Amino acid sequence: MVAELNHWVGGASFTGDSQRQAPVYDPATGQVTKQVRLASTADVEAAVAAASAAFPAWRDTSLSKRQSILFAFRELLNSRQGELAEIITSEHGKVLSDAGGEIARGQEVVEFACGIPHLLKGSYTENASTKVDLHSIRQPLGVVGIISPFNFPAMVPMWFFPIAIACGNTVVLKPSEKDPSAALWLAALWREAGLPDGVFNVVNGDKEAVDALLTHPEVRSASFVGSTPIARYVFETATSHGKRVQALGGAKNHMIVLPDADLDLAADAAVNAGFGSAGERCMAISALVVVEPVADELVAKISERVAELVTGDGRRGCDMGPLVTREHRDKVSGYVEAGEKAGAKLVVDGRTVEANGEADGFWLGPTLFDNVTPEMTVYTDEIFGPVLSVVRVQSYDEALTLANQHPYGNGAAIFTNDGGAARRFENEIEAGMVGINVPIPVPMAYYSFGGWKNSLFGDQHAHGMEGVNFFTRGKVVTTRWLDPSHGGINLGFPQNS
Ligand code: NAD
Repeated sequence: MVAELNHWVGGASFTGDSQRQAPVYDPATGQVTKQVRLASTADVEAAVAAASAAFPAWRDTSLSKRQSILFAFRELLNSRQGELAEIITSEHGKVLSDAGGEIARGQEVVEFACGIPHLLKGSYTENASTKVDLHSIRQPLGVVGIISPFNFPAMVPMWFFPIAIACGNTVVLKPSEKDPSAALWLAALWREAGLPDGVFNVVNGDKEAVDALLTHPEVRSASFVGSTPIARYVFETATSHGKRVQALGGAKNHMIVLPDADLDLAADAAVNAGFGSAGERCMAISALVVVEPVADELVAKISERVAELVTGDGRRGCDMGPLVTREHRDKVSGYVEAGEKAGAKLVVDGRTVEANGEADGFWLGPTLFDNVTPEMTVYTDEIFGPVLSVVRVQSYDEALTLANQHPYGNGAAIFTNDGGAARRFENEIEAGMVGINVPIPVPMAYYSFGGWKNSLFGDQHAHGMEGVNFFTRGKVVTTRWLDPSHGGINLGFPQNS
């Protein structure tokens, strides 16, 4: 009998009435370690009801009090992040140091949200018209829904919920059913930090739970992160039910290397960004576009580095862990097979990896393709695994056109020592996050995270001021304190005087 994972509703573990469950694996052993409940529509309704009940009091809780709870949450997370990292590694498979990195990036958003009194300041205009003043305020939406992917079980929910809560909303989070324990652990931490019951709720589940959230009349918004087809579906479903939506989708991030770049630094960056977290990052580099004549030299440097990487159990000090599930590993292996069949040159074949881990782990080693051409599926599709494809081009213009024609536009990077070329790239590339000699340009919490094209549906990116705007509604108040001089009848449209 393995442990059963419940939901978290109203400040306590909640079983619900659904009989459906899904297995949760340890990807490094291939064993089922838990069973997670998959919420029914009624279970989601219970979570929304708890969040709705908690909203009026939380909305009216002073900013100082909300801020003090956020600070307490930050302190608790700092002191216990090791526990959370182990949970992430045991269900996602990423190596422990990488799990720690994801927590640190999520913690930055908590720290940003600690400044909520400043972030929610409105503006005031005295005497906009004679003896008439104006001021603006931002108010919370109510119950907000967050639906997150498997690849960052702590960081992605933390892109949203610290700001949502700080702004006075109450939250229902639906984490990935592949690695749900991090969300439950974070829920218990909120309770310890003093967050009132019902402000933060977790429903575990699949499509049924997501649909229930997206169509529930009391849920005001949906923040989604996941693959592009589901992001599009979430956007269309939730907007047609009157909600505001930010739906972040998939990616195929290009790294362009110009001939003048430092090739050692470029090779380091390509390996780190291509194979970190086994390529299961939405900001992973998967298309390496090299402007000739340096491709031979760069590919040689990358393969030397890849040969040194150790794939294995994330708890054993390896460089790269397993993939999240057997099905996903097999899907990525299928792409390797397809690339080979299509005529790409397989420089390093991850299918033959000897992993430092149990035989049944979901292993696939780093894989490097050269001479990839734009019609091959290893180039067109988001693979979401440790597969790096080198595309050789003759000029900067050819590289830029390639990247701009790709339907995804999450991140893009250029490696060069030419400031003019870098400046041109910054101006011309069609992607939401751009790196100049930085391969994974994930913005800090006080900027916003989000892509262009098929990488984002909706207009507000995650965190930063866009996050504050997303989780609040603006109101402008016009005030006149009446005195006898204001009397008289005038049916005309009010004008300034
Ligand atoms: P996914 O789309 O399979 O799942 C994401 C969420 O949607 C999960 O909570 C899942 O339970 C739910 N879901 C799955 N199928 C559904 C359906 N038919 N209807 C409604 N909900 C459904 O994504 P994943 O495999 O968990 O995560 C990997 C994907 O997420 C990649 O495409 C990656 O690029 C993307 N991602 C994007 C960003 C970004 O910032 N743009 C960040 C992280 C991950």
